Amino acid sequence: MNELKTLARKHAIIKGILHHIEWDQETFMPEGGAESRADQIQWLAGHLHNAATSDEYKNALNKLIDIQTGTVKIDCSDSEKAALREWRKDFVKDTAIPLAFVEEFSALTSRALEAWKIARKENDFSKFEPFLEKIVEMNKRKAEFLGYSKSPYDALLDVYEPGLTADKVEKVFSLLKEKMPDFVRKIKNKPCHLSMRGPYSEQDQLHLSQEILKRMGYDFKHGRIDISTHPFSTSEHPTDCRVTTRLDKNDPISNILTTMHEGGHALYEMGLPAEHFGSPLAESVSLGIHESQSRFWETRIGLSLPFWKGFLPTLQKSLKGLENATPEEVYNFVNKVEPSFIRVESDEVTYPLHVILRFEIEKDLIEGKLKAADVPKRWNELMHKYLGVTPPDDAKGCLQDIHWSMGSFGYFPTYALGTMYSAQLFEKFEETFPDWSERVENGDLLFIKKWLNENIHRYGRQYSPEELLKKATGKEFSSEPFLRYIENKYINAG
Ligand code: MG
Repeated sequence: MNELKTLARKHAIIKGILHHIEWDQETFMPEGGAESRADQIQWLAGHLHNAATSDEYKNALNKLIDIQTGTVKIDCSDSEKAALREWRKDFVKDTAIPLAFVEEFSALTSRALEAWKIARKENDFSKFEPFLEKIVEMNKRKAEFLGYSKSPYDALLDVYEPGLTADKVEKVFSLLKEKMPDFVRKIKNKPCHLSMRGPYSEQDQLHLSQEILKRMGYDFKHGRIDISTHPFSTSEHPTDCRVTTRLDKNDPISNILTTMHEGGHALYEMGLPAEHFGSPLAESVSLGIHESQSRFWETRIGLSLPFWKGFLPTLQKSLKGLENATPEEVYNFVNKVEPSFIRVESDEVTYPLHVILRFEIEKDLIEGKLKAADVPKRWNELMHKYLGVTPPDDAKGCLQDIHWSMGSFGYFPTYALGTMYSAQLFEKFEETFPDWSERVENGDLLFIKKWLNENIHRYGRQYSPEELLKKATGKEFSSEPFLRYIENKYINAG
């Protein structure tokens, strides 16, 4: 086992360096460094691919588990067996894709990212369109390399959420499509006279973000927060997990909820067992489970009345002009439901509809039923169909998300799945801590982190996403807890 562990640890170190220079690209890199950064990323990604598919690595792995059949050849613990199973799965995936393809894909997406930034800034889809077209083509090729039984899109989904297929997504989404528009119609927002128009300085807002992260149990000895166009979290190692946020001088709430979201992601990475670094046991299990952690903090805590009862005094100390605000007013303010253009700023009721729209577009792109050039038109049609609004331009429409420019297709559905998972986790959490709201009201958030550490983070990839959710909640995955939550919070209590 030691030979394999040593090699795999080297791969994880390279991955960490890649994450570091990608983090730098999004935060501090000067614009003129983009071309050379693309070269660096391409070289490192190629080097990683070579190492992870080398004969040396294959032999070390095959001594412990039969790569052909998946039979474990040695006597070892259940968690070590699980690690071998996941190592083998990664190897099979990695060797399915030729090195030349990996390098080409990495170089393309690195340049596409810069093109997307310009297209979005200048509100000019035509500057991104040729890149999108190439990225779709390459994703189709990727699906062929990976293999699938029904839709090429299944192969792409499986990369982010092991075991997920377009059919499964459609089943979950059809229930949401059936119920959610009716909820949106029935919801009446509470009158709210609170005004939070700044300007609030970057410094004050960042200070507030740091304060929230500290309360959540985020350890600044092992992390930091910076500003980027598209907020994200990244991990180089469980001992170095960073987050970014987006600041709007007139909207401090957006920063607070973004910080809690990215903080939730980072706590997952920080909670992985560092002693297993390099093994699947120290890796997050799926994007859906990852997103369940961020949505748990952002929506179930950040949008709750107990949180605002506890946190408002801190907000009032940091930001001027809110002296007379009450927790109930802020609660109504942050829970306003209104169909809008931007996914990351949308409320928790309309949010899944934004995801469904993206799922339908990218599935059609990959299945060859839609051309890149027609994405803006389709986008606006679906916005109108599901949310009843039409974006005024592409910057507020199909250019708003970074994902496609990074080459990620099959990623978006995991956002909605994460929200569903988090709702199911929260029902168990509520049952475990009947006094959770008093504790949160008193400013205690650490017990939440601890519960998530114990039930989700520490397992890494030992269990599949579905197994892990069942282990944590005692139940099979269902979207019912989410629908129950929305109905109780916004309709029954309204
Ligand atoms: Mg997220």
